[in-house]
Order: sequence, then C-alpha cells, then structure tokens
Amino acid sequence: MTVHFPFQNSYSALPDSFFARVAPTPVAAPRLIKLNRPLAVQLGLDPDMLETPEGAEILAGKTVPDGADPIAMAYAGHQFGQFVPQLGDGRAILLGEVIDRDGVRRDIQLKGSGPTPFSRRGDGRAALGPVLREYIVSEAMYALGIPTTRSLAAVVTGEHVIRETALPGAVLTRVAASHIRVGTFQFFAVRRDTDAIRRLADHVIARHYPELLGTERPYHALLAGVVARQAELVARWLLVGFIHGVMNTDNSSISGETIDYGPCAFMDAYNPAQVFSSIDEMGRYAYANQPRIALWNLTRLAECLLPLFGEEQEKVVEQAQDILGAFPETFSKAYQAGLRKKVGLFTERDGDEALIQDLLDAMAKNQADFTLTFRRLGDAAGDPAADDARAEFMDPAAFDEWARRWRERLAAEPQSAAERQTAMNAVNPLFIPRNHRVEAVIQAAVNDDNYALFEELVKVLAKPYEDQPDYAAYADPPLPDQRVLQTFCGT
Ligand code: AMP
Ligand code: MG
Repeated sequence: MTVHFPFQNSYSALPDSFFARVAPTPVAAPRLIKLNRPLAVQLGLDPDMLETPEGAEILAGKTVPDGADPIAMAYAGHQFGQFVPQLGDGRAILLGEVIDRDGVRRDIQLKGSGPTPFSRRGDGRAALGPVLREYIVSEAMYALGIPTTRSLAAVVTGEHVIRETALPGAVLTRVAASHIRVGTFQFFAVRRDTDAIRRLADHVIARHYPELLGTERPYHALLAGVVARQAELVARWLLVGFIHGVMNTDNSSISGETIDYGPCAFMDAYNPAQVFSSIDEMGRYAYANQPRIALWNLTRLAECLLPLFGEEQEKVVEQAQDILGAFPETFSKAYQAGLRKKVGLFTERDGDEALIQDLLDAMAKNQADFTLTFRRLGDAAGDPAADDARAEFMDPAAFDEWARRWRERLAAEPQSAAERQTAMNAVNPLFIPRNHRVEAVIQAAVNDDNYALFEELVKVLAKPYEDQPDYAAYADPPLPDQRVLQTFCGT
C-alpha cells in the first residue's frame, strides 16, 4: 500500500517564471507528532495511511508522493514598508493541489522542508516552536470561524536547526485555498511582465472569484473582491482580539484567508495599541492599525493591476482609487455589525456605535480582558444578577455605569434573556490561544519532548464557543508572572 494523494495541480502548469521546481530535502528521522485527522478526511486523504511511517516520510518531505509537482512559488513583497523584489518560498514547497469534499481546490504545502532557489541566506528549515504555534493558532482561527490556512500535520525531523541555539527541527503541512499573495502580483509588476500579471489574475479569478468570470471588467471586479474579503477578514480579527504581527504584502492572501502565522498573538487585556512582535518596533502592525495596513497592502495590489485596467493612466488610477475607497465602509460595516452582536444587540439604532465605543474605552482604561469581558457580558445578559463582567475592570464602577445604559438599550428589544445569551455566546469565544498557554506548550515540547499539553490545548480550542467546565482554567488570562510580552518570528 502506498499513501495516495489525489493531486490535481494547476499552479505548476502556469509559466516557468511563476515558480522554481524543487523537491523537499530529505531529513534524518521523521516522526509524526500530530495529524489533523478530520482535515485529512476533508481533503480526501486516508488518515490511517498518513499515520504510517511512509505517511510521516511524506509529511516530512523525505518522500515525494505520486502525482506531486513540488515547486517553490515566486513572490516579492513590502516588508515593514520596504519593497523586496524577490522573496519567494524560501522554506516552503508546494506539493500540489487537491479538490476537497466541498469541491474547493486546496494547496498542500510543506513548510520547513529545506532550501529552495528563494532561500537567500536562510536554511529552508523551521524550528519546532513556530510550527506548533502555527498549528495551534491556525486551527483555533478555523474553529472561531475565521478564514484561514489550516494545519494538516506536524512532524519533527530528527535534525536540529540553528537559531540563537540549536533547536529541534520540524515541518508543518499547511493547507490553503492558495498561497497567492499580494506579493505574487508585485513579483511580476516590478518586472513589468503584464502578460504574467494577466495570467495570474485569470488564475485567481477562476480559482477564488469564479462569480466574476465573464463579467465586463473582471480585473476591476477582482480588485473589488479582494478589497471586500480583506476588509471583512481584518474586521473578524479585531472582533476576537487577534494581532497578525507581520502584515507584509507577502503575508496578505488574495483568497482572503489569514496566512503566515509568525509572531501573531491574541491580546489578553484590551489595548488598541498592543504589539507583541519583537521586530515591530514602530508598532506598524499594532492591533488597531490592522485595517489601515490592510488598505495599504491593497493599494499595492491595485498598483500591480493598473496595466490590466486600461491605457489611460489618469482614468485607471481614478478607477482604482474608487475601488479602494470602498474599504473603510466595508470594514466598518463588518466591524460594527460584529460589535453589535458581541454586546447582544439584534437591531441597529442611532447611538449604538457610541455606546459600544464607550465600553471599549472603559475596557482599555481599566485593562479589562478582551475575551472574558464579552463572554461575561453574555452571562450578564442571561442573568441580571451575574456580575462577573465588572470584575474584569480595575474600577468596576466604570462597568456599572456603562451597564446601566446597556440594559436600557437592551430593553428596547423583544428577545428573551436566554435567547440573547445564546446569541452572544455564539460570537464571543470563551477559549482563545492565549500566549502563555502557547508558550507552555512549546516549552514542554521543545525541552521535554512532551506533547500532552499541545494535544490538550488543541482539543480545547476546537470548541471555542462552548463552555468546557473540565478545562475552565484555559479561559483564564495569565497571572502576572505568566504574561508573555513579546513574540518572535522564529524563522
Ligand atoms: P516570513 O517572515 O515567514 O513571511 O518570511 C519572509 C521571507 O523569508 C519568505 O520569503 C520566506 O520564505 C523567507 N524565509 C523565512 N525563513 C526562512 C528560512 N529559515 N530559510 C529560508 N527562507 C526563509
Ligand atoms: Mg511569509
């Protein structure tokens, strides 16, 4: 028996300038530490076969499965605002694409699988810590209902990677609607290769925006589609307290999925200026800056698409500006609608936005935990005597004052208390991948080869909206000495 992947590759059929053909570099002693069995089934793969030694070798890049067409994708990108004309998959290799059970084409990519022509000075490898972090956080995002790449498997390689110290090496199998980024368009734009931009845009439309096929101005519509999806995505991030950490244009997906989990983090106490990434010294990618940065990235995409819009420079720039101009409204609509749901409103009224902003301001001032405040607000909606929410505020009176206005507003709606609490619990998670938990998992795995904490955390985060009394401690914010103040790219 061999492990069968029903590959149907399309990206590797594009022109040679789109990628470099390169196979993964074999590793010493692959050991599977996690297989995402439900995802394997969703992809039409046999989870039992993937758990055999042969399966582990494939997931480690030691064996290339039949039908794979391994490539490293070419892309460019703005990193912290600086343009780099050639980045590309320096430590990732796309094995190929499969059509999943819902008929959606999915990339299967190995991350940490050895050097490629795009590796520059990197070793093409990944350390175990960042692999576990991406596994945990991407699967948590999926369970939260937020568009994201997913994690099919993690293997340790039996080799060490040298970072500040020698660390266990690992490979993540990442699954994505595609790995096409804003930076993929930039790669061709900087080379003034308009034919390639058109080929790429056509591929993207067929794959991610098929509803635009045959429309009158498909490339304009494509830009509008990416703008809408990114605006909605970033709104979803803000609504769960997620900070991506490296919103470079090469980490900005054209399909609208969250991609490239590096120094990402969920905030504990609400702070709009929150930054965790050690390399984000200016706070460019701070929590509340994310909408602005997404629009900045989309503006770079628009620049790449201009040659497809038409000949008249002035006119096409104006058209692009019009399309980009929709971002603030689309974002704000999604964000405000999400916030209204988070505080339990079923209807929309003048004054709602200000009411909610006052809560956020009080949370920031009082270092209230973002996740627990909203979850406890649901309890308070269900039972007026439940007052745990106020305990999240340094000055609980600040909450009481706000809650009086909130209750007045709720009284204008006919829903029952129980109905409201159910609706709020469905949008306000109890369990998020808190940094101190992720850190503890990584320490246990890296120092003690112990994956019990990893398994438990992944299990709890799979049901973020459900009360899980046995795992209640996973909802707790860190104690002062558990607080994680910085996260690292860990490349
Ligand atoms: P990232 O910060 O993960 O988005 O990566 C930015 C760029 O650096 C991409 O082109 C990566 O492929 C490349 N890169 C990151 N880590 C490594 C590594 N260990 N070896 C080679 N290239 C890398
Ligand atoms: Mg990246």
